[in-house]
Amino acid sequence: MRILIANDDGYLAPGLAALVQACEGLGDITVFAPEQNASGTSNALTLGRPLNIFQARGARGFACNVVNGTPSDCVHVALTGVLGHRPDLVLSGINNGANMGDDTLYSGTVAAAMEGYLFGVPAIAFSQAEKGWGEIDAAARTARAIVEQVLAQASLRGPPWLLNVNIPNRADAEQLPRVVTRLGRRHASEPVIRQINPRGEPIYWIGPAGDAREAGEGTDFHAVAQGQVSITPLQVDLTDHAARGTWAQRLGAGSA
Ligand code: MN
Repeated sequence: MRILIANDDGYLAPGLAALVQACEGLGDITVFAPEQNASGTSNALTLGRPLNIFQARGARGFACNVVNGTPSDCVHVALTGVLGHRPDLVLSGINNGANMGDDTLYSGTVAAAMEGYLFGVPAIAFSQAEKGWGEIDAAARTARAIVEQVLAQASLRGPPWLLNVNIPNRADAEQLPRVVTRLGRRHASEPVIRQINPRGEPIYWIGPAGDAREAGEGTDFHAVAQGQVSITPLQVDLTDHAARGTWAQRLGAGSA
């Protein structure tokens, strides 16, 4: 089996090293990762300049193809010619912090996995619930266990699938219940933070993500709050299917 691993925190991130190390022995592993932290870049592709790829060692010494671009760039260039083969599975992470609810729209971690999915390759995105890499090796063992469980039960040959996994930062993460969830929702982000730079000009920091708003039973937020590993199957179709008829009526338009 051939596994492509990427992330969004950059090739030096401890979460990537832990995931690569934990997956040793599952198959032939190739790593493509961004040169710099590219968290929050969503599915961005770099179109206005060429990309460089250089070989370097990540944390703990794994061999990495380092791309001076986004997480999606990494998987995209790998799958469209640089890798030289089609992987059976794409893994992304382990991210420094949760990717739950609306986070999935902004997440580079989810996007790297999604890039594989868009190319027809099954993919899993892994994130730790809390930032700071606490119990990262327990999270990595959990990720490997999920990969093994998924590979035993799901086909890599049929239609592709995309899983978004959030793992509590706990030493016993591998023993925690694993539940299949839906995405919750967050409140809108905290306000922008205004500061004055040394030249006396205003600068603005994007505020932190809002707290969970829809975090009821069945959501990813709820599962992680209960100390469970959340596994959400994702799809990419953003169409509001239920609203098509309403909009057709409002606009006097046909509904295709
Ligand atoms: Mn990140």
